[in-house]
Amino acid sequence: MKKLIILGAGTSGTMMANHLVSKLDKKDWNITIVDQYETHYYQPGFLFLPFDIYTTKQVKKKGKKFIPKGVNYVQEKIELILPAENKVTLESGKDLNYDILIVATGTKTAPDETEGMDGPEWYKSIFDFYTYEGAKALRDKLRKWEGGKLVIHITEMPIKCPVAPLEFAFLADSFFKHKGMRDKVDITFVTPLDGAFTKPKATAALHYLLEEKNIKEVTNFNIERVDYENNKIIDYADTEVEYDLLVTVPTNMGDALIERSGMGDDLNYIPTNKATLQSIDNENIFAIGDATNLPASKAGSVAHFEAEILTDNILRYINGEPLKEEFDGHANCFIETGNGKALLIDFNYTHEPVEGTFPFPGVGPLSLLKESRTNHMGKMAFRWIYWNMLIKGIHIPFVSATMTEKGKNYEEAK
Ligand SMILES: Cc1cc2nc3c(=O)[nH]c(=O)nc-3n(C[C@H](O)[C@H](O)[C@H](O)COP(=O)(O)OP(=O)(O)OC[C@H]3O[C@@H](n4cnc5c(N)ncnc54)[C@H](O)[C@@H]3O)c2cc1C
Repeated sequence: MKKLIILGAGTSGTMMANHLVSKLDKKDWNITIVDQYETHYYQPGFLFLPFDIYTTKQVKKKGKKFIPKGVNYVQEKIELILPAENKVTLESGKDLNYDILIVATGTKTAPDETEGMDGPEWYKSIFDFYTYEGAKALRDKLRKWEGGKLVIHITEMPIKCPVAPLEFAFLADSFFKHKGMRDKVDITFVTPLDGAFTKPKATAALHYLLEEKNIKEVTNFNIERVDYENNKIIDYADTEVEYDLLVTVPTNMGDALIERSGMGDDLNYIPTNKATLQSIDNENIFAIGDATNLPASKAGSVAHFEAEILTDNILRYINGEPLKEEFDGHANCFIETGNGKALLIDFNYTHEPVEGTFPFPGVGPLSLLKESRTNHMGKMAFRWIYWNMLIKGIHIPFVSATMTEKGKNYEEAK
């Protein structure tokens, strides 16, 4: 009996378990998935939790519920990967041998990478919303905050869902407007990038929205430290930004397991072939989702596209066939812009976000790079799609894994 092990039962790992269970012959293959936690979080919901738009119940469920029958579920911390021995060691000391390994251990925040960030003011005047605990603590703070300087800050790139901090700024604008206290809140968006987003076309559209909502922008800010005693963040060029409430996205890093196993780059991401998803260093190891070093967005939608292609490639690898070099970095992201509207962007490694409609050219119903209420409904529907389709590995109709496949998604691809 051959063994396939999936490390991590988050978005990517759960999808891969669901895809592979029906594709691998049960007589020949034993599939095991390992995760340290009992709870599976809907991380996109962490954006809405601080504003009381979602409840805590709506963003978490028992992870095991989504692991299909026929897949062994092990709830334990993974200590080490030993590629030379085709072996994984768990915290209890138990070893798991594999023929094929899929690494889906994601990325997490590391506030301790920045001086002063997770010191005595952590969760008092300095918060993150990229974790369940952070989003919940920030919700409690915002419920009673009386206003002042709100600074929304990105420490360094890459981060998961790179548009989420901007969405947070837009939602904050609309939240304080609805509370009738927008005039008491001064909002500043601070980024290490030279604009609001990583892609120039989307940056232009988003810059306009920041201006319209009276959100100040500080760009090229490479933070050196948080001076929590004097409520300011300071960068390497000695630029200072004062805050009363700092909402930061700390450095994002792959799990320490990857570092301990000597398998990562300097941010603990697995060097991965950007088209096949095979690891660069070991031919029987594949990586997916946030755990990779791919120059694609770290997003659930991206992991969903990767999962379809990786499933094919695992089957090809087993059959001794050449892998498909098919993943093109396809990302499809809703950007919540507040006041019941959202924008949608669709791009890949080589294509900038384009204008038009999605998924059907000329028909929509979603509009690309333009705010609309339909896009907002799409963003809110994503939670249902996530729990009921995405992590169950169910194909989302009319949405291609690759951006330009058969010219489906793009007018320009026709
Ligand atoms: C605020 C926010 C908003 C977002 N918004 C969107 C959005 O609108 N659209 C979108 O597509 N994406 C969004 N995302 C991103 C999306 O949630 C992630 O990209 C996606 O969850 C990545 O899936 P993954 O499986 O690679 O990692 P994860 O889902 O994080 O899973 C990794 C799993 O590995 C496990 N693990 C790691 N190390 C170990 C270990 N040593 N031992 C045992 N288990 C381990 C973890 O416990 C975890 O369960 C958002 C994320 C955040 C934080």
